[in-house]
Amino acid sequence: MPALWLAFLNDTIYNGGTETQFEKQEGMDMARFDALVVGAGFAGAVTARRLAEEGGKRVLVLERRDHVGGNAYDCPDNAGILIHQYGPHIFHTNSKRVFDYLSRFTQWLPYQHKVVANIPDGKGGRMQYPVPFNLTSLETAFGPGEGKRLGEKLIAAYGEEKKVTILELRQNPDPEIAALADYVYEHVFVHYTMKQWGQKPEEIDPNTTARVPVFLSRDERYFQDTYQGMPEKGYTPLFEHMLDHPNITVETGCDALERLGLKDGVIRLDGEVFEGPVIYSGQADELFAFQFGPLPYRTLDFGFETLAQDYFQSHGTVNYTVDEPYTRITEFKRLTGQEKAGVTTIMKEYSKAYTGDNGEIPYYAIINEANNALYAKYKAEADKFPGLHLLGRLAEYKYYNMDAIALRALELADRLLEK
Ligand code: FAD
Ligand code: UDP
Repeated sequence: MPALWLAFLNDTIYNGGTETQFEKQEGMDMARFDALVVGAGFAGAVTARRLAEEGGKRVLVLERRDHVGGNAYDCPDNAGILIHQYGPHIFHTNSKRVFDYLSRFTQWLPYQHKVVANIPDGKGGRMQYPVPFNLTSLETAFGPGEGKRLGEKLIAAYGEEKKVTILELRQNPDPEIAALADYVYEHVFVHYTMKQWGQKPEEIDPNTTARVPVFLSRDERYFQDTYQGMPEKGYTPLFEHMLDHPNITVETGCDALERLGLKDGVIRLDGEVFEGPVIYSGQADELFAFQFGPLPYRTLDFGFETLAQDYFQSHGTVNYTVDEPYTRITEFKRLTGQEKAGVTTIMKEYSKAYTGDNGEIPYYAIINEANNALYAKYKAEADKFPGLHLLGRLAEYKYYNMDAIALRALELADRLLEK
């Protein structure tokens, strides 16, 4: 039996520190929990908080990693720079409900994410232009005069401030627009998508490239959402604050699958029948011992480098859309506004197929018909357990942003609290 830990907040979190203290609690009685949450990412933490606070439920949260926050976890590195351990996370949403709820647990630093593509300029140097590819990108790529003319032509075809996906743009019969679409496809999408997915844009779920449309605008922001920002002290303190409730017990370093039993519609925890709701945010295939075969995912390798200079690049994230083996470089100081002279930390992302090897994390579901059908088999298994709720990017096998998961967690909690 792994050690049991009760997390509680240390004052330092709100006074600028990031440390959490954990107090060991041996011999905890499982019968005293009303709800079980597997995973302490957005799905798990939001649900746990609402059930504990509004429902008065005693909630046990089991987290396999040695920290809370899921993939949004951040921490200071050896140089004292706050880094995102599992890839750059920028908060953005149009949901006032999500923003208001999370704002109970953090204040926000104003931050509007801007990304540029960094590509060879064809003359032995390199150039950068905004991504999503916009009217400014057009003028950088084709020169001010020609770029402006092409921009006007696109606006005449689609409308001002409109977003057009690359796949839509490539359908345009006008030869000049088709040639432009080919340029954007070649310089922004095809190589990046091959690196990220091992497939071409037309071979993957169209909703994926639609996340980064061609934008007939001068707006250089990566997202146009109403609410955007970074948690003032980082994501981890946000989670620690959210999970800091007398009715919540968090046990990190604990694989729930070693404790959970699912058989004949009955859920067991540590061998005892568990009657309360179980909110599971891990992989659906793993929960059912891969009985229908593994669900495919993409994973990432992160290359962190700490450099003895103030800044490395012009933007929070720079996408390498034509060359280099990595997809993008993120510089954390630019995301979080941390001020530290003479040192900066950057991170390169390398995507590859997930094999299930020890230590690999399944970051991206590969959405297509065959995989959705495979997922549906696991979902049907889960539905045989009335108390089991699959919630989250992994458990639902979806490409969800943080706010989408937070909203789904709020909505699941609405339903559970009604009961
Ligand atoms: P997770 O954060 O994955 O949490 C699930 C937790 O469950 C994990 O901590 C895991 O360890 C735990 N778990 C799994 N199985 C078990 C088990 N058997 N026992 C115990 N615990 C278990 N979203 C944005 O909105 N903006 C961004 O900029 C952004 N950038 C991203 C960049 C990258 C590289 C990636 C991969 C994702 C990004 N996202 C971003 C998406 C964001 O990470 C997810 O939406 C969010 O983390 C999903 O929350 P979750 O709770 O569903 O899953
Ligand atoms: N994409 C691309 N070039 C870019 C940015 C994005 O081809 O410069 C495509 C690529 O297929 C990528 C998808 O658009 O996987 C979604 O990009 P996003 O930045 O939303 O991905 P995430 O941050 O979730 O990894």
